Order: sequence, then C-alpha cells, then structure tokens
Amino acid sequence: MKAYVVERDALIHNIHALRSFAGKVPIWAVLKGNGYGIGIVPFSRILHENGIDHFAVTELKEAEVLRENYPDASILMMRSTSDPEEISALLDLGAYLTVGSYETAVAINGVAAERSAIAQAHIAIDTGMGRYGFLPEDTDKIISVYEYMKNIRVAGIFTHFHSAFSNEKATKHQFERFSAVVDKLRAAGYDTGMAHCCNSHAFVRHPEMHMDAVRIGSAFLGRLAFKDKLGLQQIGYAECTLEEIRWIPKGQTIGYAAAFQASQQMRTAVIGVGWYNGFAASRENDTFRFRDSIGGILHHLKNLLFPKKILVTVNGHKCRTLGHVGMVHAVVDVTDIDCAVGDKAVVSINPLLVKGLRVQYR
Ligand SMILES: *Cc1c(COP(=O)(O)O)cnc(C)c1O
Repeated sequence: MKAYVVERDALIHNIHALRSFAGKVPIWAVLKGNGYGIGIVPFSRILHENGIDHFAVTELKEAEVLRENYPDASILMMRSTSDPEEISALLDLGAYLTVGSYETAVAINGVAAERSAIAQAHIAIDTGMGRYGFLPEDTDKIISVYEYMKNIRVAGIFTHFHSAFSNEKATKHQFERFSAVVDKLRAAGYDTGMAHCCNSHAFVRHPEMHMDAVRIGSAFLGRLAFKDKLGLQQIGYAECTLEEIRWIPKGQTIGYAAAFQASQQMRTAVIGVGWYNGFAASRENDTFRFRDSIGGILHHLKNLLFPKKILVTVNGHKCRTLGHVGMVHAVVDVTDIDCAVGDKAVVSINPLLVKGLRVQYR
C-alpha cells in the first residue's frame, strides 16, 4: 500500500487563515499543475466550499474542469495566448484572458470581434520574470490596447514576482515598477480593473502589496520557504507499508554506491517510495540559485559522498534512511523500534513533487 494523503482539516485551516489575512481582498486560488499535485477537482472543491470563488490556471483543460464544476466562479487564464482556438474556447468558458503583448491583444481582439463578443482580460506586466507581459516602459503599447482593441475589456492588471521567497529588495523593486505603471494608467484615465501582484510569499511577507487581489498557490499547502506568522500547516505526506524487515550484519552495505555500511549489526526496513515519487527530491532547481553557487556545488558533492539522513516516521518513531534513497525504494533503520512487515511509514513529500502515488483526501 502506498498513497499520498492530504489532510482535509489542515487544508481548511490554511484556507481560513489565508482568507482572514487577506481581509476584503479577493484571493485567486492558483491551481496550475493539477492543483499543485493534489488534484484540481478535490482541491478546488474544498476551496470553493470554504469561500474561494476565484481560480487562476495556466491550461485550457484546467479552465474547462473548473467551469464545469463552478458555473459562477471567476476563472483567470494567467498565461498569455494568441492561439485562436484556445482564445475561442476560453471565451466560451467566460474566462478572463491574459494580454501579455500587443500581438496577443491583436489575436484576442480578432477572435472576439469575429464572434461579436467582448473578451475580458487582465494585462500582464513583466517586471522581471521575463515570460509574459508588457515591459513597464511600454505604456504606449498598453494604452493602444485600450484605444484600438474595441473587443477587449480590461478587467485587471498584474505582475509576477521572481524572488518573493528570498529577496525582499528585488520584490520591492518589482512592486514599485508595477505600481508606477498602474498609477500612470489610472492617472491618464484608463480603468485598469483589479491590480494584483502577490504570490504566496509576497502575500504573507508584504501586506502593503496586497492591492486589489492576490494569487495564492503554495500557501494553501502550508509550504513556504520561510516560517510564516499565519500558523499555516504543512499538508500532505506519503504513507506506505514496511515491505521487508531484516537484520543485517556488521559490514553490510546498503543502496547504490554502497554509500552506507553498517558499523554494527542492525535491523532495517524497506519502504516502497523513492525519489521518483518525490521523496528526498527538492525544488531547488526551480526556485533557488543555490545550486549555481559554490556552496550549492559543495552541498551536492557532500550529498553524493555522505547521503543526507532523511527521517521517516514508523509507528510514531522517527527513523533515519540508510544510504541513498532509491528510485522507488528506501531503506530505514528500525533497530530500536517495535515494528513488523505491513506497519505504516509516513514520509514527508512536497505535493508538487509527488508522482506515481494515488492522492487520498482524509
Ligand atoms: C504559480 C503562480 C502563482 C502562485 O504562486 P505561489 O508562490 O505558489 O503562491 C501566482 N501567480 C502566477 C503568475 C503564478 O504562475
């Protein structure tokens, strides 16, 4: 048996803590990547039951699933698209589109005009993420959306922070650049609709940046890079059974590269989750420059030579892993605890990294 367990109560606790911190500011729940790995349908249902009715996605399929389940919810496609079929489908769904460039504005306006429809859209501003959005100095291009795109109604404007988890100075700088664009447009008489910039980390750390709405993903899962003051709870862990228990003699090696060698006789248990399932994997590649640094390289080298001792809970006791965590297996030290084949082991895994495990809500 193995599964990824999502604790409903912890999730609901987080939703309420975040809503209360947001006050009157609406929260767009970000549900990309199949709802951060815990299933867009069950996750969105719990969000919706607990007062969230704004959803932000990056794929058409996600928007379709949400519309099917929540006829009245607001759905924002955060990725800018100029694909006519995609635009057309999003208009059918009554979703908000993202205008990230003059070219996407032309494409969206064209499709909407053909259908004699008005596309509701948010304007994306690129303050440093470098993906979608008008550069802050391109105010003229943004204004041309208002002036010439008669089938687009601007309902919002947003930007995305690149370092809110680590660098307050960079975030403030992005915020200032974004605010300046919003202020300039408003001063010139253009209705920007709701302005929003905060992701989870900025939301928690910078209440002064909440503006008219916020976009929250990882905070619902209680997994932020710093300790938050909202009392968010980490949700999600893998549960699996002990598949094999044995005594090994002194000198026995364990795992690839024989990175562990027993210095005395010991009792070990094998569990059926490994790095393929997200165990002992990390998101450093995605979010941190750490691995590019000398420190990061040394850290990596140290991990290769001396595998990190990662803890697994067996019958309520913390046990260390022995040797490298394998692709779908790990070996843990159960010398000092009472356990038998079939007992449960609990493994902390970030839901974003979970693969190959059935997600179970409890
Ligand atoms: C993923 C994403 C978010 C949510 O980020 P979290 O840090 O998980 O809260 C917000 N906005 C955009 C544009 C995103 O892509």
